[in-house]
Amino acid sequence: MSEREPRPDDRRDRRARAWLAALTVLLGAVALLAEFAPGATAVLPYSEFRTRVQSGRVASVLISERMIRGRYRRASTAAAPRPRAPMDFEVVRVTDPQLIGLLTEKGVTFEGTPDSRWMSWLLTTGLMLIGVLLLGRWIAQRVQGPSGGVLAFGKSRGKVAGEKDVKVRFDDVAGVDEAKRELMEVVEFLRDAERFKRVGARIPRGVLLVGPPGTGKTMLAKAVAGEAGVPFISLSGSEFVEMFVGVGAARVRDLFEGAQAQAPCIVFIDELDALGRTRGGNPMGSNEEREQTLNQLLVEMDGFETNNGVIVLAATNRPEILDVALLRPGRFDRQVLVDRPDRGGRLAILKVHARTVSLGPDVDLETIAAETTGYAGADLANLINEAALLAARRGASAAGSADLQEAMERVAAGLERRSRVLSPDERRRVAYHELGHALVGEVLGGASRVTKVSIVPRGHGALGYTLKRPTEDRYMMTESELRAQLATLLGGRVAEVLFLGEVSTGAASDLSQATEMARAMVVEFGMSDKVGALSLGRGRQVGDWGLMTEHGGGSEHGGELADLVDAEIRQTVAAAEGVARKVLEDRGAAVHAIAATLLEREHLDGAELRALLEDAMRGDADR
Ligand code: ADP
Repeated sequence: MSEREPRPDDRRDRRARAWLAALTVLLGAVALLAEFAPGATAVLPYSEFRTRVQSGRVASVLISERMIRGRYRRASTAAAPRPRAPMDFEVVRVTDPQLIGLLTEKGVTFEGTPDSRWMSWLLTTGLMLIGVLLLGRWIAQRVQGPSGGVLAFGKSRGKVAGEKDVKVRFDDVAGVDEAKRELMEVVEFLRDAERFKRVGARIPRGVLLVGPPGTGKTMLAKAVAGEAGVPFISLSGSEFVEMFVGVGAARVRDLFEGAQAQAPCIVFIDELDALGRTRGGNPMGSNEEREQTLNQLLVEMDGFETNNGVIVLAATNRPEILDVALLRPGRFDRQVLVDRPDRGGRLAILKVHARTVSLGPDVDLETIAAETTGYAGADLANLINEAALLAARRGASAAGSADLQEAMERVAAGLERRSRVLSPDERRRVAYHELGHALVGEVLGGASRVTKVSIVPRGHGALGYTLKRPTEDRYMMTESELRAQLATLLGGRVAEVLFLGEVSTGAASDLSQATEMARAMVVEFGMSDKVGALSLGRGRQVGDWGLMTEHGGGSEHGGELADLVDAEIRQTVAAAEGVARKVLEDRGAAVHAIAATLLEREHLDGAELRALLEDAMRGDADR
């Protein structure tokens, strides 16, 4: 997600260092050359040196431990050598006890000196070495990228510089109207923070976008920045998690520092689950680095002042594995669902992407929308692009219906590997199954109402879903409510039997839930007349709605009582199934009519469902 760009001042720094390194190497090389360059100083054999002293040609010598260097007498005294002029010759010193006597005799000035040649050699080599080291370091940095590697501890890899001029707008993201509505509030705050501050309203700091890959979460986050005209800083959760303990935490710190400097702005963390996984969940020892990083993120989110204008958006498709601490108030306390689009949504997305390609007159986006159940936004974008590529390869100027059909086959092949795309028969089954739940729930109703029925596959496992929300806060449930719940759970299976002739494996999780519930009613809540008001469960916890969340292993009761309990559980389930059957049988025509609508529209909200049911029932009564 994030492109890695160095910060400008970083870049200047590095260039300066590279120049310095090159200069040092050059200087060292020059010094070394000058020192060893032939011709500058003649090297004499010792015997020759002695001869020249004896013949009176030598004026002065410098004697060091290993070398003797000297100057010749000049023709005229006026041209006496300047003390700093280079020596005329040099000799490797040999053991010669008579030398001093000879020099004195011939009137040669002589003086001792430390071994300067050795020193200068050391100096030049040292310089070279430093130069090479600097250069090597610079090269290493180039290779690893500006921020990578051990040399750049703690530098945030995100573009802390942020993307200033984001072009994406809400109009570019289609089919996710609910999510857009929720995010609009964030945009308004970023545009006009003062208005909110005046009222003293607490602004969300973190919003979690939840949904499968390719549904437009990144685009939405960008669009928020684009609409509000603020910088967009993004990076991926996996980039924080490093091999070295402490690096991730330092990156988080850097990131927020950078964001603070650019506020108001949006920070977007993709794949939050990579770093936000529940702490201490690893049985093979703790993952200290990730935990430190997560802790730092929590600290930073708590740290910012409520209204400083940095809003963190994060995306995940697995909210259930996130550490609960991340979801507390003041952190990611808002969740926005970004689901796979329904038929209408798909049409809208296709239209957005069709804007940039030329489509032939025979292309009907409506039909394509109808045929692409289960496709996410990215798949649809891919579809349009593939069709355009096919057309271009053909040499055509616009993509036609045939191109789209072929593209669909290609995209579907990839999709089938990743997620499920249902066959028409399967869709029909899912529609009846979900309607079974929804109608039984709606008719027996009571404490909760159906808010949504959908046959758009969702996340892992579920092929369709029915959402029910309690109409008020509940702390306990009555027996009749539990029985209604049980019948609702079984409604899906009953509908399959009634309208499609047989059951499928799709009802497995319903059945296990129903059995659990029935067992709890019999052994825990004393809702069976035959067993009576006994609590026979052990070591279980009472969950959200008064049901067990955990099994305590074997039961305390055995023999006859166990048989009775089993029989009662069976009877409880059978009774609920009977209730569900009655509800659905009485409304057979309505079920077929509503199923047809659901198959076409793919999702119905609660009000639509109720309206359709009323219509269908009225039609029945009139006939
Ligand atoms: P996510 O972050 O959810 O994985 P992205 O936002 O990265 O998905 O989407 C990938 C691409 O798919 C986008 O660049 C865009 O072209 C396309 N896309 C996805 N969802 C939508 C949408 N709702 N409307 C328009 N285009 C979409």
